[in-house]
Amino acid sequence: MDLSNKVVIIMGASSGIGAATSELLAKDNATLVLGARRIDRLNDIKNQFPDATIDTHEVDVTNFDQVKAVVDDTVAKYGRIDVIYNNAGIMPTAPLVEGRRDEWKQMLDINIMGVLNGIAAVLPIMVKQQSGHVITTDSVAGHVVGPDAAVYSGTKFAVRAIMDGLRMEQAENNIKTTIISPGSTGTELFNSINDADQKKFAEDFFKNINGLQPAQVASAVEYAIGTADNMSVSEVIVRPTRQS
Ligand code: NDP
Repeated sequence: MDLSNKVVIIMGASSGIGAATSELLAKDNATLVLGARRIDRLNDIKNQFPDATIDTHEVDVTNFDQVKAVVDDTVAKYGRIDVIYNNAGIMPTAPLVEGRRDEWKQMLDINIMGVLNGIAAVLPIMVKQQSGHVITTDSVAGHVVGPDAAVYSGTKFAVRAIMDGLRMEQAENNIKTTIISPGSTGTELFNSINDADQKKFAEDFFKNINGLQPAQVASAVEYAIGTADNMSVSEVIVRPTRQS
């Protein structure tokens, strides 16, 4: 796909779905601005594509000032932002009875506030442009609550509500919104699970259903970005075929 006319910010680009999307869009010649905490991993992606235009930023999405600095730098360099992809997330699942309040707070901060920080930083610019596209990685867990995943699901239900509200508020400003809801995908996400039983459950589940590869989810993001100006893909759910 030719995306050479698109300036795309990807938050949470250092591994998994975000990294695969960065690689795919680099091949599509998009101008890329990549953010995550692990800047070395972002620079590894940049170095794979010496002919592409790729900026990398060390950023924690829970810190609005850092997110805004990336957005401001992008506008200063390229004059506009076509897409922000809010992809950063963690999934430390555990039964509620374990009372892992620190993990709950981290999930709320990264999975919800991280998305809101991205939205808050780009929206004034996109409204001014009267164009733009906000994409967020949600989950099948944003549709169905799984056992021992109540808080993670809660964050993903919230994000879906926020994105649908954004869609309704910003249609008149010609701003597209896309919710990407993957099923089980082989990434480093399972490393964020600290409960040993839950980690094994997630890994076994992925294996048993022949889970998705990150590049397969990236192709859904590419599809949403590549649509005509008058067509907005509101949500894409991509499941492993064997995930019920
Ligand atoms: P990974 O763990 O491979 O990727 C997570 C990404 O989020 C990394 O780039 C990580 O970067 C970034 N991130 C986490 N915390 C922060 C933070 N505070 N600030 C900036 N970046 C952060 O997992 P996935 O690729 O699977 O996850 C991507 C998204 O997909 C998440 O929102 C996840 O909930 C969602 N998802 C994943 C599914 C799966 O089965 N894998 C299924 C459904 C949805 P760094 O650590 O360098 O900061």
